[in-house]
Amino acid sequence: MTADVTDLMKKLVSLCKRRGYVFQSGEIYGGLQSSWDYGPLGVELKKNIETSWWNFMVSARPDIVGMDSAIITHPDVWKASGHLKNFHDPMVDCMKCKGRFRLDHIEGDRCPDCGGPLTEPRDFGLMFKTQMGALEDDSATVYLRPETCQSIFVNFRNIVTATRQKLPFGIAQIGKAFRNEITTRNFIFRSREFEQMEMEFFCLPEEAEKWFEYWIDERMKWYYGLGIKSGNIRTRSHDDSELAHYANSCFDIEYTFPFAAGGWGELEGIANRTDYDLKAHIEESGQDLTYLDQINKKKVVPYVIETSGGIGRTLLAVLLDAYREEEVEGRERIVLGLHRTLAPIKAAVLPLSKKLSGNAIEVFDLIRPHFPVQFDETGSIGKRYRRMDEAGTPFCITYDFDSLDDNSVTIRERDSLDQIRIPVETLIEKLKDLMDNGWSAEQ
Ligand code: ATP
Repeated sequence: MTADVTDLMKKLVSLCKRRGYVFQSGEIYGGLQSSWDYGPLGVELKKNIETSWWNFMVSARPDIVGMDSAIITHPDVWKASGHLKNFHDPMVDCMKCKGRFRLDHIEGDRCPDCGGPLTEPRDFGLMFKTQMGALEDDSATVYLRPETCQSIFVNFRNIVTATRQKLPFGIAQIGKAFRNEITTRNFIFRSREFEQMEMEFFCLPEEAEKWFEYWIDERMKWYYGLGIKSGNIRTRSHDDSELAHYANSCFDIEYTFPFAAGGWGELEGIANRTDYDLKAHIEESGQDLTYLDQINKKKVVPYVIETSGGIGRTLLAVLLDAYREEEVEGRERIVLGLHRTLAPIKAAVLPLSKKLSGNAIEVFDLIRPHFPVQFDETGSIGKRYRRMDEAGTPFCITYDFDSLDDNSVTIRERDSLDQIRIPVETLIEKLKDLMDNGWSAEQ
């Protein structure tokens, strides 16, 4: 990693801690490696990303329904899916610095960290095992799910029966997944416990390619809608050697993560999984998971187009994309230019002086039922603006001595630093308009 990249990541990790986005898990005990806790602002940002995904993928569409399945899954699910057999990464260890690396992340035959010699590759199982019930023998072994999608496949018949959805249609799920990853660097990019946003779109086999193309476009639209800059995101087709055992074509959506080898790292995979999973579960369970095609009067095993993204990686991409340092009136400021729909705090009410706090709190109380808002009366006004800039708050509302007479306040926009003065009685309407249309509509 170059010094610039290390520096940027250090700054971002530090901001995340300072402002309450992400903390190292178990920090007071020295920290649990690769486990992260989301703080007050982090959990709001995460929820906003999830809500945006759910609205885009489920609520706004008649052809996608949601579900929420158990994390501890029947072991036969993983037998059928191929995970028990295939889900392991070949690893190599450095004999000099003892670093451990995924074979497919290594170029050449020397350690990427110290140049030392490497061991022969060894397999490493990626599923977390645990025991269900009091017995601790093999019959009690269960697994924490390494992906959310298998419970969608095993519930396919239940959902078709319950919802009477007709092909093509999708089932979506957001939830935790667990992988005993070997190397877990780069903050929340790769952790052992993470959250996925997955959607399985079932269609007739002959329409699969069409839907595959469609979903690549749709998913890119969603990332652009989060405000990610267009040069920082791309799609990349997998070549045959990269394809997972279940897929016949796969595209990754990638972001310019500064630490990623080659400059790009995966945000989401979009795959044509064919009928692999449903067929495997039909075979293992002996149950009928076919779909009756009413038009052609025949049973089919649908093909599946999967869109599978990670919340942690999206959150990291959004933060990296939003982070900037700039100079304003001779002073440096750090800004998280988060899109207003993602910003955890939408507005902050700042009395110019503590003497005005009583009146300013009334403005705060007025906004509270409508938007996540904060009240801050501590420190100079400049310092309070800086705190809100770092937290990514799009609008600061200042209550000053003139407000006592004219019952108006000043709204300052985070990115342009432009200000407008408006009567308190129109404040909510104005904020709603700004949240819907952004500040540019104001100019
Ligand atoms: P990678 O090649 O980076 O290990 P993958 O191809 O194994 O990723 P998928 O199985 O396609 O990942 O999982 C779908 C999505 O889940 C990924 O695009 C990513 O956003 C997220 N994801 C997968 N593994 C992790 C992890 N260990 N930590 C955080 N997010 C993850």
